[in-house]
Amino acid sequence: MTAADEPTIAPAHCQSAGDGRLRHGAALKFFWGPMDCGKSTLALQMDHNHGRQGRRGLVLTRNDRSMGPQVTTRIGLAHSAVEVTDDLDLIALVRKEWGDGARIDYLICDEACFYTVEQIEQLADLVDGYDVDVYAFGLASDFRSFLFPAAQRLFELADEVNRLQVEVLCWCGREGLLNARIVDGVVAREGEQVVIGDTAAADQSEVRYQVLCRRHYRSGDLGR
Ligand SMILES: [Zn+2]
Repeated sequence: MTAADEPTIAPAHCQSAGDGRLRHGAALKFFWGPMDCGKSTLALQMDHNHGRQGRRGLVLTRNDRSMGPQVTTRIGLAHSAVEVTDDLDLIALVRKEWGDGARIDYLICDEACFYTVEQIEQLADLVDGYDVDVYAFGLASDFRSFLFPAAQRLFELADEVNRLQVEVLCWCGREGLLNARIVDGVVAREGEQVVIGDTAAADQSEVRYQVLCRRHYRSGDLGR
């Protein structure tokens, strides 16, 4: 990093930086799990807990179920959030906040599976070069059961990876693992990687998602 790349206004704990030695020891953590496992709820809980400790952060999301610039949860919580678009530079975002006098100790990154790989690299840079903690939440795999590129990069780069399992069960009672896209009542095996569908609707919607165990994901059996 060159001097020109240094944030113009950095938190005091960043200013002794520059030689690559461990300072505060910020971390990149990835929390993953299937739909309905409470990722967004945990994301907002984490923001709340850090806030109570006097820390300040930003909440980011992409393709939230509300389709607005906010994180909403299935149990009714909501929080305004920065909507991450393909061309948003996350380092520039944090530096602008610092430039405006805001403190940013951490980022809560909901739906991080939908970010670009470049943005995951930027998150790692924020941890390593700017001492900002990053807590990322998201799905691991898409409807075809393959890793999202951003999730793959998070698995590769994160200091800590946590699988969330808040009792999301397949219809058969086994632990839910994979997110099936159901199109006209059938498990889809090909198509666009990201199609926003209804995750809670009844069978009449054209595209919806359902968490299945591996066995029933692979067999395509949706039960009754
Ligand atoms: Zn099953």
